[in-house]
Amino acid sequence: MSSVILENIEKHYTGFHALKGINLSIDKGEFIVMVGPSGCGKSTLLKTIAGLETVTSGKLMISGRDVTGEEPGNRGIAMVFQSYALYPHMTVAENMGFGLRMAKRPKTEIDTAVRRAAEILRITEQLDKLPKQLSGGQRQRVAIGRAITRSPEVFLFDEPLSNLDAALRTQMRVELSTLHARLGSTMIYVTHDQVEAMTMATRIVVLNKGRIEQVGSPLELYTNPKNIFVAGFLGAPRMNFFQGKITATLADTVTLSVDGLPQLTLDGVITDGLEVGDVATLGIRPERLVHNQVSSISFDARVRLVEHLGRETVLYADATPLKTTGSDTGTQNVTVQMAGIEPLRTDETVRIGFALADTYLFGPDGRTLTPPKPLKAN
Ligand code: ATP
Repeated sequence: MSSVILENIEKHYTGFHALKGINLSIDKGEFIVMVGPSGCGKSTLLKTIAGLETVTSGKLMISGRDVTGEEPGNRGIAMVFQSYALYPHMTVAENMGFGLRMAKRPKTEIDTAVRRAAEILRITEQLDKLPKQLSGGQRQRVAIGRAITRSPEVFLFDEPLSNLDAALRTQMRVELSTLHARLGSTMIYVTHDQVEAMTMATRIVVLNKGRIEQVGSPLELYTNPKNIFVAGFLGAPRMNFFQGKITATLADTVTLSVDGLPQLTLDGVITDGLEVGDVATLGIRPERLVHNQVSSISFDARVRLVEHLGRETVLYADATPLKTTGSDTGTQNVTVQMAGIEPLRTDETVRIGFALADTYLFGPDGRTLTPPKPLKAN
């Protein structure tokens, strides 16, 4: 059953079109994560679901009810913000029970709901403290607890972990996933963090300039991005893009010329509208490039920078005359991600190779033209 349905949602601010034709149906119990570059409309979309922003046009349904014009309090949602937004003069218990007190629920019901949420979040010992006496992670648990006590149909999270340090983020990420499994509620979550998106989401929504680019499970989106935007947005380090030109097309076969590589022939390609001479982009993920191994296609590159992360080594190399676009470092670099520790030195020349089956071809309009790849956990 659908929990939240967004139908043709449009949002215009004065002089700015922030949301463009948003259509999305979210099932009960899903964990939806919205990602996209800064300013793409993630928070605006979340706020329109919460009722903190009005929509210019379109319809919003929550649990089968049209709530487009409803006040936030009547929508059956609870929102958790990045800045915990706790009342400093109230104890943890009072903060957590605030929504129910406002709704004039009986004291026993409020106490029971607060105790239950505190147990779930393991903050029972903190109930009598003030927010200033808590750590950042504990404060964020209180903010989540305040949402839980209201038993909402839908939880909305706006970057709830971004103020926490790395270790606490990892811990809270696991806790939120566990909480989701335990409560079975619908959750909609906005983040900039790729790992949060990939690990927590049942489906990721990728937004760009107020539009939805693609919706799908994390591995679907990672393995089969619909276009060059999604391909470049998901994955860190990001996908390598090489500029090429179409030199021949025949049925579903395309020949691509990329400076610095032999002619490449790709099969199963969508060739509708594609013409000889068109500029196209070849994409390959950094973990699919290998160095100093025999592979079907290879090129030389000069090592510019090596990042030793222990578990993996990330190599940034200059592969001129290959023309790369939009690399992580902003320069003409090929990025190679290798498992383990690789003894590489700056300025040495390495041979980098790849298999054609691991590549993506993007047309002049950015659409993915190569056929879907089987989903595989890397
Ligand atoms: P970030 O990741 O930086 O938080 P976001 O994807 O959440 O970004 P929004 O906060 O949703 O982006 O903003 C989307 C766009 O709408 C931005 O370009 C922003 O400048 C614009 N915007 C947001 N609020 C208003 C407003 N009240 N008036 C005019 N423009 C606004």
